[in-house]
Amino acid sequence: MDRNQAEQRIVKLRELLEEYGYHYYVLDQPLVSDAEYDQLLQELISLEGEFPELMSEDSPSVRVGGIPLPHFVKVEHEVPMLSLGNAFNDDDLRDFDRRIRQGIEGEPSYSCELKIDGLAISLRYENGRFVRGATRGDGTTGEDITQNLKTIGSIPLRLKEAVDIEVRGEAFMPKRSFEALNQAKEQAGEEKFANPRNAAAGSLRQLDPKIAAKRNLDIFLYGIGLLKGKTLDSHHEGLAYLRTLGFKVNEESQYCENIDEVIEYIHSWLEKRTALPYEIDGIVIKLDSLSQQKALGFTAKSPRWAIAYKFPAEEVVTKLIGIELTVGRTGAITPTALLEPVIVAGTTVKRASLHNEDLIREKDIKIGDSVVIKKAGDIIPEVVNVLPKLRTGIEQEFNMPTHCPECESELVRLEGEVALRCINPKCPAQIREGLIHFVSRNAMNIDGLGEKVIAQLFSHQLIEDVADIYKLEREELLKLERMGEKSVDNLLEAIEATKENSLERLLFGLGIRFVGAKAAKTLAAHFETMEALQKASFEELTDVHEIGDKMADSIVSYFDSEEVSELINELRELGVNLTYKGAKPTNAQEAIDSAFAGKTIVLTGKLEKLSRNEAAEQIEALGGKVTGSVSKNTDIVIAGVDAGSKLAKAKKLEITVWDEDQLIEELGKRG
Ligand code: NAD
Repeated sequence: MDRNQAEQRIVKLRELLEEYGYHYYVLDQPLVSDAEYDQLLQELISLEGEFPELMSEDSPSVRVGGIPLPHFVKVEHEVPMLSLGNAFNDDDLRDFDRRIRQGIEGEPSYSCELKIDGLAISLRYENGRFVRGATRGDGTTGEDITQNLKTIGSIPLRLKEAVDIEVRGEAFMPKRSFEALNQAKEQAGEEKFANPRNAAAGSLRQLDPKIAAKRNLDIFLYGIGLLKGKTLDSHHEGLAYLRTLGFKVNEESQYCENIDEVIEYIHSWLEKRTALPYEIDGIVIKLDSLSQQKALGFTAKSPRWAIAYKFPAEEVVTKLIGIELTVGRTGAITPTALLEPVIVAGTTVKRASLHNEDLIREKDIKIGDSVVIKKAGDIIPEVVNVLPKLRTGIEQEFNMPTHCPECESELVRLEGEVALRCINPKCPAQIREGLIHFVSRNAMNIDGLGEKVIAQLFSHQLIEDVADIYKLEREELLKLERMGEKSVDNLLEAIEATKENSLERLLFGLGIRFVGAKAAKTLAAHFETMEALQKASFEELTDVHEIGDKMADSIVSYFDSEEVSELINELRELGVNLTYKGAKPTNAQEAIDSAFAGKTIVLTGKLEKLSRNEAAEQIEALGGKVTGSVSKNTDIVIAGVDAGSKLAKAKKLEITVWDEDQLIEELGKRG
């Protein structure tokens, strides 16, 4: 980025951050998530670092918090109440440790605390009596909210020692109170608070203390601003002293000998944090020795001896650099956003589905836009919204094509559908996607035949329809790139094994419109043979529980085609099983009694006595659910020969692991 572009971007970032900050700090009604704010702020800080001549004293990167509201009496803080620098990963923490070491004598040790997501409060005591409480405001001037703070039961009005002290802490609203408050607000038809932090701030910045009194607020104290007549040596000693004075201090803080212990402490909170009765948005790490703290001092915005580690962001900003179109197996054209890679909730995201043209219009997405990405259901990345204010004018409007990007036939929009479709049945993209679907996990589940290999076989014209998969020859496969003898033999063996699959897998794999895996199973169990299903009339189909008109229609017209009959005959001749096998839904009692009932099971490694598909079918017939990846929701991992990373993960998560013999024994109990 050249200086000109940087300047433009800096101006825009400042404007946007000002606006977000105003809504957050002054109005207590944030417009965006904290992660999004933090990320834009980080970008500003790094641009200002790169172009120091563009620095400005009133940049959001150097100013603390918001401005005090005019209707409160202003309070000047004797010792400024600052913000904290941020760390987002282990490297940032190690950098922090390195900077500390450069500025102090001796070895650093740290005090780690939960970063309570509330608002910073200062409490002033004279002679042990509570005389004044204030918000942080802009760091130098805050708002006098003494009356509101007096309504918080955990703030002592008189301390156990008659000291002069100014203490700092975080006022917050416990999760339970926040939910109850928002429920009440909803019932009253009032606007809800965005999060407990804003609810706490909004409650304490009310002119009428009766409101704050009703809001069940609480406070944890974490620091001393001023203390007369006593000297302390370390931060953790300070926390202990606060406790003896009668303040509520969070119990989870921990003294750490070095940065490794700090990192370990932080990691231990990544999962545990959700179980806390209050929200935290990170961990605060403070250099423990007060003399070392003093040696380091402050920047304009934050102490050099402390840092806030922020938990991985669930929403991040990145740039949309292009839109790619893919043709699905049903011919639907799906636009996918190509993104500048970013880490979202722990993994790198480069693409996000945009689903269809309507969504692109609705969200007003242009190529070159800054966009907010999150993972829906924690898995699939999606574009939440665009940040139009960061546009520079070079962003490009996106228009859907009129012709199929793969076969160039004209696209149509079928009535009542949002997707544009290629309706050319010979479209190579559709055929390739159909083949990928056929071998996929819930369909024929052919081990070693993934998307890439299918694409390779397809492009070498070794397969054109699903029957061709069963005609693959060893010699031909050996000619392909990355296909050694062993992998070819394994592949052929895996393909051969799927000839024995029960009918529902084939049925689902054929990709009949509207027939999902579950419907395929229902159909297979009901009709038992492919022949019977081929002959089934619309009425016979709709008589089956769970089969509706639309699906029945689609099935009838699918089997009506000459090409389909030929394909099925071919599969039969190739030895592919066309009947529903054994996996008759077991009687209910048997399923309840089985060790698999209601359990999630993962199969990994090579099974020797059963094929994976057979094992999965039998487990499912006994009420278990077979999934592909190991997580904390997995109950049993069945590990065959040469099980690798899944087995390792299972051990790490302390999940029960069985070998194939244990599996057979359990299946054997049920005949
Ligand atoms: P900060 O929240 O990153 O860190 C400083 C604050 O941490 C302190 O003032 C204190 O209130 C708090 N804190 C909690 N526990 C603490 C502990 N144990 N020890 C010390 N401090 C502790 O910095 P900030 O300047 O208050 O504000 C930035 C925060 O506000 C960020 O999280 C940012 O995302 C958010 N913000 C969000 C928006 C938005 O639009 N969503 C706008 C502005 C700011």
